[in-house]
Amino acid sequence: MTLTFYLATKNKNKVSEIQDILKNTGILVNPAPLDIIFPEETGKSFEENALIKARHLKKFISKEPVAGEDSGLIVEKLGNLPGIISARFAGEPADDRKNIEKLLKMLLPYKDITERKARFITVVALIENNEERFFTGEVDGFITFTPRGTNGFGYDPVFEIPSIGKTFAELTKGEKNKISHRAIAFRKLADYLLKR
Ligand code: IMP
Repeated sequence: MTLTFYLATKNKNKVSEIQDILKNTGILVNPAPLDIIFPEETGKSFEENALIKARHLKKFISKEPVAGEDSGLIVEKLGNLPGIISARFAGEPADDRKNIEKLLKMLLPYKDITERKARFITVVALIENNEERFFTGEVDGFITFTPRGTNGFGYDPVFEIPSIGKTFAELTKGEKNKISHRAIAFRKLADYLLKR
């Protein structure tokens, strides 16, 4: 029997990224039905925001498990900013280029790469049979001094993985999907769904 869960997003790119991450598991990811309008993400943490999305979707999907996902970048020297406001760090409307510009400007005083520690975090909230569970994925790296690479989105061009010496934007989609925070969190979710 094929295992299926619904993801609380209408973003087709996100669904296909997660389907690619789970491609060898036999698990199918479905997007939220198009007519659902998600509430604002008013939570104060990745967990709260992931849960807001999952709980909303659960009102419409009764049988299958549903999952909500929230991700972002935290930077040690900036008191863990941009955190839950990663998408809109430089204001509305969300703009990746402006977000990167703002981040690099705030990090100007930090000239040593070891002072530029950053972490990508994904939290997935799963709701199944009225039980709520969280799965977390984290990747540690450094914020570069200038953007490098053209793949990916968001902060990918300025997030370097020390063990590889490349930014996320210098990796192919397949390479990033093996090691990303989202990959780690969703593989934990898959392990749970397959073993329970
Ligand atoms: P979301 O919760 O997955 O939509 O992520 C919120 C924001 O965090 C995105 O709009 C990006 O700014 C940032 N972000 C999350 N994941 C990534 C990533 O894998 N690469 C670059 N930026 C990311």
